[in-house]
Amino acid sequence: MYDIIIVGAGTAGLTAAIYARRAEKSVLVLEQTTYGGQIINTLEIENYPGMYKVSGPEFSKALYDQAITLGAEVEFEKVISVRRDENLFLVGTEDDSYKARAVILATGAEYRKLGIPREEELTGRGVSYCATCDGSFYKDKEVMVNGGGNTALYDAEYLAGICKKVYLVHRRDQFRGDTSLVERIKKLPNVEIILGATVEELIPGEDGKLRAVKLKFLERPSTEVAVAGLFVAIGHIPSVGAFSDLVEQDESGYVIAEEDCRTSYEGVFVAGDVRRKDLRQLVTATADGAEAATSAVDFLNNL
Ligand SMILES: Cc1cc2nc3c(=O)[nH]c(=O)nc-3n(C[C@H](O)[C@H](O)[C@H](O)COP(=O)(O)OP(=O)(O)OC[C@H]3O[C@@H](n4cnc5c(N)ncnc54)[C@H](O)[C@@H]3O)c2cc1C
Repeated sequence: MYDIIIVGAGTAGLTAAIYARRAEKSVLVLEQTTYGGQIINTLEIENYPGMYKVSGPEFSKALYDQAITLGAEVEFEKVISVRRDENLFLVGTEDDSYKARAVILATGAEYRKLGIPREEELTGRGVSYCATCDGSFYKDKEVMVNGGGNTALYDAEYLAGICKKVYLVHRRDQFRGDTSLVERIKKLPNVEIILGATVEELIPGEDGKLRAVKLKFLERPSTEVAVAGLFVAIGHIPSVGAFSDLVEQDESGYVIAEEDCRTSYEGVFVAGDVRRKDLRQLVTATADGAEAATSAVDFLNNL
């Protein structure tokens, strides 16, 4: 029996483990793959305060070592169910079942992929899913944003302030995002909007990095556009499978909780990218981890 079980050993989950252990609570972290989460494959992080140019593996290992040193236990098992049993939570994995008085969900989210050849090979070599993370690597270069919602529009606006030119490509004939934002984008001199087009092919250069993107149109031949970066902004998929019936979620599947990270189910807390919020970054994941652990400790102390 543990005081707190944390589902997910990404940035949010490991930060929650650090805070919970420093409050002297027993902690088990359950992780389905390896520790680190989404950031593990990133070569260079430039925007985490106080750690300029750290790699994803270095960042994750430092967090993991800190959590372990402070006494958190970690098991590498996929959580498949979380349910209440009288005063306890039963957390079921593919191999076992664990008991805890409180649960923190820190299962993250995945970027929706284009699902076309070379996407994986060129990720980090021109293909990105996060303009805030990688935009500055494309300073004064020509880039493309693919998507039609607010994320794509904000990405295009953000990149227009950094890059020489931004092509904003959307498959429909109008954007899904806010009209005021669309109007702002239309006024930016270095943004070219291309509607009714989908990304058909990613073309690498001799250096193995993205050189161009081939766009497919319904009523005209495909066109090749030379760009150094493609920012894919076609949505996120929150990882809520194991507990989708337990806690309240918004229409996109994100778990609803305010800054204190308390979910609709008493004793269950949420942290990181799986929580409904505007900015999904390492710094907000660590902030959530700290908040969720502090709320869980407060809940346990008042049982
Ligand atoms: C390519 C890339 C580059 C990025 N670059 C930056 C950057 O430079 N700066 C920045 O601030 N942010 C960056 N981000 C965003 C940042 O990585 C995320 O905001 C952050 O990782 C969110 O942390 P998290 O702990 O909430 O979720 P995640 O990192 O997604 O971790 C969730 C963990 O939960 C595990 N899990 C999920 N379901 C289960 C289950 N059922 N059972 C057990 N375990 C489970 C997953 O395996 C994963 O390890 C980047 C993201 C990507 C993809």
